[in-house]
Amino acid sequence: MKQFRDVTGRDYIKMALWVVLYIAVITVGSIYLLVYYPPYGAMLWVLIIIIGLYLLVRWTARNFGYHCPNCEYDFELSPFRDFISIHAGSQKLLVCPRCRHKSWMAPGKIIR
Ligand SMILES: [Zn+2]
Repeated sequence: MKQFRDVTGRDYIKMALWVVLYIAVITVGSIYLLVYYPPYGAMLWVLIIIIGLYLLVRWTARNFGYHCPNCEYDFELSPFRDFISIHAGSQKLLVCPRCRHKSWMAPGKIIR
């Protein structure tokens, strides 16, 4: 079983840098691919958005897990579940896979 630690400001900064990089690639891509290379540039741009989003969600799913406040069980989410789950700030509304308790859960950084 993997162990978690509290998420630090450094973890949030690292996550924010990945998001900024993703937005920068999309922005630059929109300028060059949509303006200079229609119509295939638009298709490539959409492909870059989808692949970038997938990589971003996969990175968060692999690096962060959740702790059930009811039964103390630590669990990870699949990239799909991480993407579709409702969140507010850093917390997500999740159902514990062990006890089925539903509540807002804060992420923990997975220790490798
Ligand atoms: Zn639980």
